[in-house]
Amino acid sequence: MSDVHSPHGLTIAIDGPAGSGKSTIAKLLARRLGIGYLDTGAMYRSLTLIALESGVDLDDHDAVAALLPSLDLHADSNPDDPHFFVGNREVTSLIRSSIVSEAVAKISTNLLVRAWMVEHQRQRMAEASANGSGMVAEGRDITTVVYPEADLRVLLVASPLARMKRRAKELFGDDSPESLEKVRSQIVDRDAADSTVSEFTNPGPGIELVDTSDLDIEGVLEAVISLLPAGMSGNHN
Ligand code: C5P
Repeated sequence: MSDVHSPHGLTIAIDGPAGSGKSTIAKLLARRLGIGYLDTGAMYRSLTLIALESGVDLDDHDAVAALLPSLDLHADSNPDDPHFFVGNREVTSLIRSSIVSEAVAKISTNLLVRAWMVEHQRQRMAEASANGSGMVAEGRDITTVVYPEADLRVLLVASPLARMKRRAKELFGDDSPESLEKVRSQIVDRDAADSTVSEFTNPGPGIELVDTSDLDIEGVLEAVISLLPAGMSGNHN
């Protein structure tokens, strides 16, 4: 845990499975604390989009990795309305499509891709720490691999049903059995694939566990803020 008087920017790492509420919470936290926001899932999604468009075989790890050197990814760190670009092209809504959601695990289980992503994400966090701006990053391996030295590391979990209901409401406006069925693969299958390369169900030492199943957004936000190191939550409203 860091010295509250050190000049570095506050860094927070949040991991959790799809639908655990980590994006919503990370954005609210960043806004509340006046620090930047990094959605690492959007980086994997952007590469997935480019790989799908290029027609490359997603199971061919070397061919997918060959797209990385020319992948010009930009994510603005403004939590109010984050935008994602590949080169000059905005991909913010395209990367949320079902086609990308269903294909992304093929990209994120590619270890060549993961090494590249981890290095870039780690650099963003280290810069935000060193230049004093601070950052909340969210994903699957931020607390464990990307930036274990963060001032606060949180694992957000929720039952699969709670997560499917959230995702169904987000996409279809209801959580009827039909809507739940439509999002099942985006939650359950993705958990299964993602957990082959990242540990995001059991917190390691020093990682705080927050179960969001029965909490509303404000409740989760308060729970996470209460975990901040002393002196780091009060001066940014
Ligand atoms: O967080 P989100 O659901 O947008 O992430 C999309 C996908 O990107 C995840 O299902 C996972 O396969 C991958 N991912 C990852 N490591 C991260 C962030 C996302 O493997 N740090």
